[in-house]
Amino acid sequence: MKKITFIGTGYVGLVSGACISDFGHMVSCVDISNEKIECLKSGKLPIYEPGLEELVKKNVKAGRLKFSTNIEKAIKDSEVIFIAVGTPQNEDGSANLDAVKSVAEVIGANLNSYKVICTKSTVPIGTGSLIKEIIKNKNEKNVKFDYVSNPEFLREGSAVKDFLWPDRVVIGSDNQKSYKIMEEVYNPLYINNKPIINTSVVTAEMIKYASNAFLALKISYINEVANLCETLGADIQQVAQVMGQDGRISPKFLHPGPGYGGSCFPKDTAALASLSKKAGLEMRTIEAAIRTNIFQKNRMVKKMKNLVGGTFKNKKIAVLGLAFKPNTNDIRESSAINMIDAINKDCGVIKAYDPIANDSMKLIFNDILYYNSWQEACDGADAVVIMTEWNEFRAISIKILKSLLKTPVVLDTRNILDIKKLIDNQFKFDNVGLGTSHAD
Ligand code: NAD
Repeated sequence: MKKITFIGTGYVGLVSGACISDFGHMVSCVDISNEKIECLKSGKLPIYEPGLEELVKKNVKAGRLKFSTNIEKAIKDSEVIFIAVGTPQNEDGSANLDAVKSVAEVIGANLNSYKVICTKSTVPIGTGSLIKEIIKNKNEKNVKFDYVSNPEFLREGSAVKDFLWPDRVVIGSDNQKSYKIMEEVYNPLYINNKPIINTSVVTAEMIKYASNAFLALKISYINEVANLCETLGADIQQVAQVMGQDGRISPKFLHPGPGYGGSCFPKDTAALASLSKKAGLEMRTIEAAIRTNIFQKNRMVKKMKNLVGGTFKNKKIAVLGLAFKPNTNDIRESSAINMIDAINKDCGVIKAYDPIANDSMKLIFNDILYYNSWQEACDGADAVVIMTEWNEFRAISIKILKSLLKTPVVLDTRNILDIKKLIDNQFKFDNVGLGTSHAD
């Protein structure tokens, strides 16, 4: 049993902290946000993530999981300290390391015994050396510490499952002592024969960026293939399915849609492109993936505009799905933001609905209409656009949808509606790459 602190109690810190406490370790999740910590202390969760509430409650009850804003004390009391703060995007595309640097300073100033400092935040390749340097400079008593990199691969929406059943755990360390300690932290996974891979710090940092950028690239690629399918009359669903049957390609991340969003792919691709440029090696593939993604988001707006006669002015548009993907309330970089913004600017009326992300979107758009069901959002609308593939939208009855809408017009950016039923019910519709658009 180890004493562990997570600094940063966001999606990654909270999920990882809860899961690691479930392994039997004593975990403190700390954060500078008083509001977040008070919310957690009161038994509520500041985020939605399937299975997380039960896991948090269980481990708080068992006395293994605590929440605090006293970062200094948590550092002093722990043997392993995870850095899990945000690394948002700077204007020039590079990763903003302000929070990471400030945490490194606090860690350095509060080292009172040997500790392993572990970065879980996604940080540019080479940041490990910077963090070590900052800690050393603040560590006046020269207390020994080791630094490791442990990039996180969980996906929002299935984060708990991903953490507990990972494909692999990567530990970048420069010596065996710290690697062995990290192995003990992840011991239950190790027992379950999950591969724990030991690399250098810099290689671990590279693995994270290379993986995320590759997935973003795959999405942009299939979106471009989908767009070409539309022009040439091919069916992207079949193309992607058969491509995915090739073991070298795999079916994952081959779903065409409105462009990737979320808190990782957009900023991580931008950071890798920026980093490689600084290293004198442009990553043209990644730059192309970024451009394609922007194009795809705008393409969805154009499709919607075409469906409603070339302007959103005075048109009521139901927007179904606000989260960047299903099973999360995270709307960061969601394609729905681009769509809402465009409709708003063109003086359209937005009737928005998401099963759980309405409140998150209100922080960006507080002047649009929000509803508690897709039926209410669609009632009296001139058209509807599906932006997120929530399961409940897959089950939408096309007949009921038609009866609610003023005019039967739909843009299905996730290809989840039954085209035959749309045709049978005289819908004017469009989608991504199915080559069967009935839009004028
Ligand atoms: P988040 O914004 O949800 O959480 C970050 C937390 O850090 C916030 O609660 C914030 O208050 C806190 N924080 C900021 N500065 C702090 C400080 N100085 N001291 C203490 N706490 C501080 O971010 P996230 O989505 O959890 O991402 C964290 C990191 O993990 C990022 O680098 C991200 O790229 C990476 N990551 C995220 C995911 C994901 O799916 N969200 C997956 C893998 C990796």
